[in-house]
Amino acid sequence: MSDRPKELTLAEQAPANYECRACGYVYDPAKGDSKSNIEPGTPFEELPQLWKCPVCGVRRSQFVNIGAKDAPSGFQENLTFGLGVNRLTPGQKNLLIFGALALGFLFFMSLYTLS
Ligand SMILES: [Zn+2]
Repeated sequence: MSDRPKELTLAEQAPANYECRACGYVYDPAKGDSKSNIEPGTPFEELPQLWKCPVCGVRRSQFVNIGAKDAPSGFQENLTFGLGVNRLTPGQKNLLIFGALALGFLFFMSLYTLS
C-alpha cells in the first residue's frame, strides 16, 4: 500500500565508495577530495586518471569498490537471510543431511517395491 522507503532508493542510486587497499582511506563521492580539488558529488569513476590516494599516494587501481554508504548493513542482512542453513551447528547439519538422504532412500525403495 505504500511505496518503498525513500532512503532505500537513494542508497541504491548513491555512487559507490572506494577503499584504498594500501591504507584504508575511503573515497566518499559525496565528499569528494578537497586535497586534489575533487568537488563533492564526483563519482570515483569520474576521478582523473592521475588521481592518487590523498593519504598514501597509491594509484586509483589500488582502490576497491566497497559499495554505497548504506549498502553494507543491507548486504549483511541479505547474506544472513540467504545462508540461514549455515547458522545451524555442524551436528544439526549432519542430521539434516543424513535425514534427507534416509528419506530419499526410503522414497526410492518404496517406488522400487511398488513397481
Ligand atoms: Zn591510501
